[in-house]
Amino acid sequence: MNAVLENPRDPRPLDTLGRPLRDLRVSVIETCNYRCPYCMPTDFTLEETALDRARRLSFDEIETTVRAFVRVGVSKIRLTGGEPLLRKRLPDLIARLVAIPGVEDLALTTNGSLLAAQVLALKQAGLHRLTVSLDALDAGLFRALSGGRGDVSDVLAGITAAEDAGFSAIKFNCVVQRGVNESQVLPLVERFRGTRHVLRFIEYMDVGSCNGWRREAVVSSRELRDTISARWPLRPVSPSYRGEVATRHAFVDGAGEVGFISSVSEPFCGDCHRARLSADGQLFTCLFASRGQDLRSALSSGEDALAERIATLWQGREDRYSEQRNAPVPEAKPGKKIEMYFIGG
Ligand code: SAM
Ligand code: SF4
Ligand code: SF4
Repeated sequence: MNAVLENPRDPRPLDTLGRPLRDLRVSVIETCNYRCPYCMPTDFTLEETALDRARRLSFDEIETTVRAFVRVGVSKIRLTGGEPLLRKRLPDLIARLVAIPGVEDLALTTNGSLLAAQVLALKQAGLHRLTVSLDALDAGLFRALSGGRGDVSDVLAGITAAEDAGFSAIKFNCVVQRGVNESQVLPLVERFRGTRHVLRFIEYMDVGSCNGWRREAVVSSRELRDTISARWPLRPVSPSYRGEVATRHAFVDGAGEVGFISSVSEPFCGDCHRARLSADGQLFTCLFASRGQDLRSALSSGEDALAERIATLWQGREDRYSEQRNAPVPEAKPGKKIEMYFIGG
């Protein structure tokens, strides 16, 4: 076993930029029932995105992999996809993951379409926290933004069911694109002001290669903050912990807070402690990576070998794409990037 893993006081290996590994995003499925144009445009067929079922990690394999990640320093897990609620018997996996010693936080990101029917089982299985993506309240616009597949009333019903099931502080993710859904910003803020839920605005990112990203379509967090503050004044709030991805702003009138995730305009690579596990068992050390590292062969040798492989890979990590993106002269020409739906954001 690598010596760095043997120190029980601080088992966390550091990457080449001195960053420990704390968070893991686990993609449980790579397919989706939506076709959001910024993630999986409509010309993708299910066959193109779906893995051969045998290549998807089983629940046994995911559990072992998460145990290995915990030994290397991970304490926060987020389940994602594709659409994670399409994975059959997900509550069984949740119950297994929350029982792992060292897993302090287990969250799930969903498009909310299937939440109403499933959320009670998710809660009963022990899921700690929920994030729901919601880019529009207007029914027509929502439908267009889901690639013609989604109905906002299903998501709103899912949110009500989640509240009834006991999820009291839900996070909402909204990606704003210029000329597309700026009209939804204030209505969304108004809807969640005064609740315990927190709306976060994510800058439209150049993840993957299929969404035709243009910088002009990005609405910066600064611009959004100004728009919101002009209606409901905001003040900055200190981060809850080092490396918090969203910057927090509270309403001056006490009606809660909003968050801003500014990957494009204010990169936060220096504090990036996150790894991503794809549904087929590859490790991605950056959202913008061109390729993953296979964990399956180490997994077949057991948890010890897997923990050692993860530690070794993490120690070699150099990623800081968002900082390089803004460099006046690109430092390296990136290869074809992995798609968002494959690693889950
Ligand atoms: N299907 C689930 C959902 O939509 O919540 C989970 C997976 S989805 C890939 C995770 C998050 O990534 C969503 O909140 C989505 O809005 C966000 N996302 C996808 N493509 C994006 C992009 N190009 N820029 C910014 N956020 C993006
Ligand atoms: Fe599906 Fe989520 Fe991607 Fe939309 S953002 S296509 S809901 S995986
Ligand atoms: Fe982390 Fe990569 Fe995003 Fe930088 S660009 S914050 S290294 S995921």
